Amino acid sequence: MERVVVVGGGVLGTMHAVAARRRGLDVLHLEREPEPRGASVRNFGLIWVSGRAPGPELSLALRARAGWEELAAEVPGTGFRPNGSLTLATDEAELQLLKEAAARPDATVRGFEFLDAPDAREVNPALRGEFAGALRCRRDAAVEPRRVLPAVRAHLLAGSDRSAGYSWLPGREAAEIAPHAVRDHTGEWHRGDLVVVCTGASHTGVAGPHLAGYHRPPVRRVRLQMMQTRAFDSRVTTSVADGDSLRYYPAFDLPGRARLAPQEPAAAATAAQLLLVQRLDGSLTIGDTHEYDEPFAFDVHENAYDHLRAKAEKLLGTPLPPAERRWAGVYSQATGPELYHRSEVAPGVILVTGPGGRGMTCAPAIAEETFL
Ligand SMILES: Cc1cc2nc3c(=O)[nH]c(=O)nc-3n(C[C@H](O)[C@H](O)[C@H](O)COP(=O)(O)OP(=O)(O)OC[C@H]3O[C@@H](n4cnc5c(N)ncnc54)[C@H](O)[C@@H]3O)c2cc1C
Repeated sequence: MERVVVVGGGVLGTMHAVAARRRGLDVLHLEREPEPRGASVRNFGLIWVSGRAPGPELSLALRARAGWEELAAEVPGTGFRPNGSLTLATDEAELQLLKEAAARPDATVRGFEFLDAPDAREVNPALRGEFAGALRCRRDAAVEPRRVLPAVRAHLLAGSDRSAGYSWLPGREAAEIAPHAVRDHTGEWHRGDLVVVCTGASHTGVAGPHLAGYHRPPVRRVRLQMMQTRAFDSRVTTSVADGDSLRYYPAFDLPGRARLAPQEPAAAATAAQLLLVQRLDGSLTIGDTHEYDEPFAFDVHENAYDHLRAKAEKLLGTPLPPAERRWAGVYSQATGPELYHRSEVAPGVILVTGPGGRGMTCAPAIAEETFL
């Protein structure tokens, strides 16, 4: 194999470009937008090991985290930092579930440790609010989602020359797939020994015919609401999750989960959980909600933000700075037991999508699996 064509400039496409260049392959990278604007730039940038299901999902996430760390050594512009996380309990049932999680057989590889509230405040002194205890996960990390893709591309371009290496072709929408080739909207064909299609949540475009026609669609779309504040005046040393996250992440599918109180109606209405990460510029990225049924709302709902803001303020013990940005994002999620969707859609053409809410975390390891 000598040449790979990658379609899609999100994190999956970009990590495939990295994996191919590491193997000395030439890469042509197509993206329909002038600059990617999909899930990969709309997320928290959480490299989230703590919530992963035991077994293959945890293993994929741990390999990917190592991949991020390795890449960050070459590309500091990713903003990778091993800041860890604290998942906070506010009542007895959540506290017991955190203790159960800290006793999991795989707790050590996750870097889990149960902390009472004073110990949690020592780890993260910005948590001046009300909570009963915390689960620390030392393996969680963060990157800067708005910076990662351009930083990695600049690195790949710096390692190339005019005749070989990495070429970035934005503003080209893949319109047709053929064996070992893809045609963009201008009519130009691009050929490679391998074509990797990473078109994210675009389930009706070039990937459409290959995702339709199944008895049960192999992927679905999920929409999330997010916000970012102005700079917060304290350093938030870890990422933070609230007790609602215990209801969603498979790592917490333990006996104690059945004893959790019903979610607050405002959270239940939007399947909300609080995740909070401080950006390198001091601002706070806060989310999220989950909308599963299409057609999705085209606007963002203020009551979800009111709920998330109130939760964050309760845990931080102080008012949040004003919101500076609000947005929604959509990701593609595999509907079956597999961790993501991979299929050969034509000879020499592989479609890779559907990593769901773990795509930013797992992209480096998913890309490596393509070249195994
Ligand atoms: C709000 C939100 C928060 C999230 N938080 C996290 C998190 O903190 N941690 C985590 O691990 N995961 C998170 N995720 C999930 C993660 O962001 C996604 O799984 C991941 O970004 C998917 O990457 P992708 O490259 O497949 O898709 P995308 O980022 O959507 O990229 C696909 C790209 O393909 C391009 N494209 C589409 N069709 C064509 C075509 N025909 N021709 C050329 N280009 C095309 C698009 O323009 C786009 O740039 C979050 C997702 C959302 C929405």
